[in-house]
Amino acid sequence: MTVVVPQTLKEALAFSSANPEAQIIQGGTDLMVEINFNHRKPTDVIALRRVEEIRNYAHSSDRSKLIVGAGLPYQKMEHGEIAELFPALAQAARTVGSPQIRAAGSIGGNLGTCSPAGDALPVLSALDAEVNLRTETTSRDVVIHDFMIGVKRNDRQPGELIVSVTLPIIDGWQGYAKVGVRNAMVISVASCCLVIDRKLGTVSVALGAVGPTIIRCRETEQWLATKIDLKSVFDVAPSLLKEFGDRIANESKPIDDHRSTAAYRRHAVATLSRRLLLRANTK
Ligand SMILES: Cc1cc2nc3c(=O)[nH]c(=O)nc-3n(C[C@H](O)[C@H](O)[C@H](O)COP(=O)(O)OP(=O)(O)OC[C@H]3O[C@@H](n4cnc5c(N)ncnc54)[C@H](O)[C@@H]3O)c2cc1C
Repeated sequence: MTVVVPQTLKEALAFSSANPEAQIIQGGTDLMVEINFNHRKPTDVIALRRVEEIRNYAHSSDRSKLIVGAGLPYQKMEHGEIAELFPALAQAARTVGSPQIRAAGSIGGNLGTCSPAGDALPVLSALDAEVNLRTETTSRDVVIHDFMIGVKRNDRQPGELIVSVTLPIIDGWQGYAKVGVRNAMVISVASCCLVIDRKLGTVSVALGAVGPTIIRCRETEQWLATKIDLKSVFDVAPSLLKEFGDRIANESKPIDDHRSTAAYRRHAVATLSRRLLLRANTK
C-alpha cells in the first residue's frame, strides 16, 4: 500500500487527478473502521490531514455565506463563529462520537461516507448547502440534495476531492436533535434539523436515519408556512403541533434494522420535530 501525504490542496488535487481510484482519508474515523473489518483494502491512499486549506472556514465576498473546509474537524464547529452562525451544525457536531472522534472526524468524511445516519447531513440538507468538488482541472458545486444519491452513495466522481461546503447564513432559528440507543457516543436512530428563515417566512425540516438518504419534508414545510406567520414570533396551538409531527412522520420512510424499528423511528421524528418547533417558538 502506498500512502501520499500532500501538504497543499494543489498537491492533493494533483495526486487525486493522477490516481482517481486512490482512497482519500481525512480523519479516518469511518475509513479505518472499514479497513479494520476488511470491508475495504485500498492499495493507494491520499491522506489529507496536512492540507491546511481545507481545515478552515471563510466568509463569501458578500458575507452572505460561509465556506466550510471539508477537513475541518467537528471540534472546531462546536463553539465560536460557526456555532454562532449555525447553531444546528454546532449541536449536531457536539453529538458526534467522543472528543477524540470529534477532533479527527470531518464534514467531508460525513459527506464521503454519506450514511443516512450522518449527523452533519440533516443540517446541510435543511440549509440547502452546496458541496464544492474539485479535480486538478475542474470545479463544480452540487446542491446537497443531488449529492446524496442513496445509502452510503454520493455523486463524487473518481479523482474529485470534496473541498468544502457552502452554507447560506440565515436570519432566523435553527436546531438539531437526535435519538440513539443511549445518550452519548451513539449513531442516530432518528434525527431532525429544523431551520426557520424569518426573512423569507419559510421553514426547512430534514430527517436523518429514517430513509435511504436524508429526507426533506417539503410537503409539511409548505403546509406549516400556510398555518403560521414564520416571519415573526408565533404561537403553536397543541393541535397544530400534533398535526405537524404527524405529517413529518408520514414523510419519513424508516425501516426495521439492528438499531431500531420503523415504528419507533416514526414516533421519534414526530417527537423530535415537535420539540424543535416549540423551541423555535420561544426565541
Ligand atoms: C467511535 C465512533 C463514533 C462515531 N460516532 C458518530 C456519530 O455520532 N455521528 C456521525 O455522524 N458519525 C459518527 N462516526 C462516523 C465518523 O466519525 C463520521 O462520519 C466522520 O464525519 C467521518 O469523518 P472523517 O474525516 O474521519 O472521514 P474518513 O474516515 O477519513 O473518510 C470517510 C469517507 O469519506 C471520504 N472522504 C473524506 N474526506 C474526503 C474528501 N475531502 N474528499 C473526498 N472524499 C473524502 C473517504 O474516502 C471515506 O470514503 C463515528 C465513528 C466512530 C469510529
